[in-house]
Amino acid sequence: MEHLDLSPWRVAHKSVLNLDQFDTRPPDQLPAESDALAAHTKKLSERLNHLQATLHAARSCSVLLVLQGMDTAGKDGAIRHVFSQVSPLGVRAVAFGAPTQEELQHDFLWRVHSKVPALGELAIFNRSHYEDVLVTRVRGLIDQATCEMRFRHIQHFESLLHESGTIILKCYLHISKHEQKKRLQARLDDPNKQWKLQPSDFTDRKLWPHFMRAYEEALSATSSSHAPWYVVPADSKPHRDLFIAALLVQVLEKLDLKMPKSAFSLSEVRLDG
Ligand code: AMP
Ligand code: MG
Repeated sequence: MEHLDLSPWRVAHKSVLNLDQFDTRPPDQLPAESDALAAHTKKLSERLNHLQATLHAARSCSVLLVLQGMDTAGKDGAIRHVFSQVSPLGVRAVAFGAPTQEELQHDFLWRVHSKVPALGELAIFNRSHYEDVLVTRVRGLIDQATCEMRFRHIQHFESLLHESGTIILKCYLHISKHEQKKRLQARLDDPNKQWKLQPSDFTDRKLWPHFMRAYEEALSATSSSHAPWYVVPADSKPHRDLFIAALLVQVLEKLDLKMPKSAFSLSEVRLDG
């Protein structure tokens, strides 16, 4: 499954994107939800652990995984499962909530730039600079001209990161409105999950079509060869995790990173005792 061709889910730059045409359910070529499917994701995650260790040792590039999606789309869950076998020392997850007063006094990329991965690091953004062209736009906090200006700033920002050695992958976790209803209901019903709920989960849900149009524009304006967007079918959690794990493994394998040689001559080492 790691050889699955993921290109059909990749967004072409400046394409006319219609998210209604992307299925939120898993593709037919993947097996049904099963223990075998979860075991496969675990294997990919173990592979990811090895690839991350090499990335860390080689320190020649960094990896940034951006996760976006509506509330309950599974950003937290994907991070938990895809990286379950990766050393906590090897990854850094950053969640972006509503900006603070201090952050609002700066340009919208200020808080994001300080969190990008250094060479050898793998960082995951749970929400990101894309909130500044999505939620802000849908809630009418910015106008169309500002939004288009920000698309350009994002393109330049991501080009800067790319040219500085960062591999950028962006996943939009695509769930149906019906699936979100089920997940919100599950949170309402479970005392251990109620803390996760915010009033905005319900107000944003009412604006669903507006969010979809904003996502379509943002994804198509900012998907590029060096920072592609993928529309991840996310109604099924195990398939969503498999998709993201396979994508990361494919991209990291292609880098063909090698463990560096020792920095000193090992033949001169004498172990005492
Ligand atoms: P959660 O990810 O569920 O913890 O929620 C974080 C909330 O912060 C979501 O409602 C986001 O839309 C909101 N948020 C994140 N970034 C921004 C931003 N730049 N401007 C406004 N709201 C934001
Ligand atoms: Mg939430």
